[in-house]
Amino acid sequence: MLQMMISKRIGRRQFHFTVQGNNFHETVAEYDRLSFPDVPNCGLCGSDNLDLTSRVAQDKFKYTSVKCIDCRADLTFGKTQKDDQTVFLRRREGGEFDWKALDKSER
Ligand SMILES: [Zn+2]
Repeated sequence: MLQMMISKRIGRRQFHFTVQGNNFHETVAEYDRLSFPDVPNCGLCGSDNLDLTSRVAQDKFKYTSVKCIDCRADLTFGKTQKDDQTVFLRRREGGEFDWKALDKSER
């Protein structure tokens, strides 16, 4: 069993994840599934007061996202269709992160 520790910086916070596999290949494959980049600050207000959050909508849709504590904007993690363990950060067509302003109807 091999383990690998990954650090991600989300705003001013640092998050540590440990992935593991039976061999080097499996361990790196697990690491690949979390290959989203660090997120230095909010794409809307520029704050570095960010956190990770998860929620379940309509009892079935699970969302994980980076949330801005200051303006409550939200950057959602997407999953690939064939493998819901592989996550990436949603981007717009131009390549920048797809930050969404708080939808007040969802509160
Ligand atoms: Zn913000």
